[in-house]
Amino acid sequence: MNWITNYVRPRLNSLFSRREVPENLWTKCPECGTMLFHRELSENLQVCTNCDHHLPITPRERFAALFDGGIFREVAVPEPIADPLQFRDQKKYPERMKAAQKSTGEKEAMLVAEGEMGRTPIVAAAQDFSFMAGSMGMYVGNAIVAAAERAVKTKRPLVLFSAAGGARMQEGILSLMQMPRTTVAVEMLKEAGLPYIVVLTHPTTGGVTASYAMLGDVQIAEPNALICFAGPRVIEQTIREKLPEGFQRAEYLLEHGMLDRVTRRGDLREELIVILRMMTGQPPAVMGELPAPAQPAGAAPTPAIPAPPADAKP
Ligand SMILES: [Zn+2]
Repeated sequence: MNWITNYVRPRLNSLFSRREVPENLWTKCPECGTMLFHRELSENLQVCTNCDHHLPITPRERFAALFDGGIFREVAVPEPIADPLQFRDQKKYPERMKAAQKSTGEKEAMLVAEGEMGRTPIVAAAQDFSFMAGSMGMYVGNAIVAAAERAVKTKRPLVLFSAAGGARMQEGILSLMQMPRTTVAVEMLKEAGLPYIVVLTHPTTGGVTASYAMLGDVQIAEPNALICFAGPRVIEQTIREKLPEGFQRAEYLLEHGMLDRVTRRGDLREELIVILRMMTGQPPAVMGELPAPAQPAGAAPTPAIPAPPADAKP
């Protein structure tokens, strides 16, 4: 039966292992249509190398790029009650949850972590748009409360990255209750005198825009992010008027005083470090190892520690 082990099994194995190779090695930029190689794209923080379009990035990938050496510790979030309304549309709510968990590999739509950024200790929370459109349910509420409590307890600033389609309809009024709840959590930070910085990413809409995403001491947005309560399509259909170019996009909102900064993803880390250290009264961070100053030609090198005189007695 050698042919089974020598011929059939390798053939079968190669058939199955071939499927494990990721099929989507290339991503097409939705803005300019350039085919982007996945490794190059992830090295560039999911930003198109051709047109600078910012594609979605997962919280985990973002934290890996944000924290020093990519090291961070997750902050535990208390579990809420699952499916309190026994909600069902075309699918049952628990089924939708399971599908989202499987496709993202995450438990819920928000990840909370603590670590250091440019040797500045922070707590960070990031919303995951790929998880049921980053919708704000009880878990996200719990996550923000946990992040704020952790920040107050450890006296660290909180940096929050928002991305959401709004409240989670499957949790009905309970999801809307997260708006006042998260507002109180942000208030806790302000009472403790700790900075709260919001980075709005594409898209941040609905109840999230109407609560914690707009309460930052500094409001930063990624380029061309859609930030709104009701989306442009809804407004256009309601008022039956053509909206101006770039309406509700980051640059438009910056121009109209809704934001403090629009910052490219690649520059965010350094900018956050500067802002956080300024707000907490710390000296500027050392951004990298500087080379030793060059010695002028012919000059004797200055010794670091002056040598003791030869006749010195102990
Ligand atoms: Zn592009």
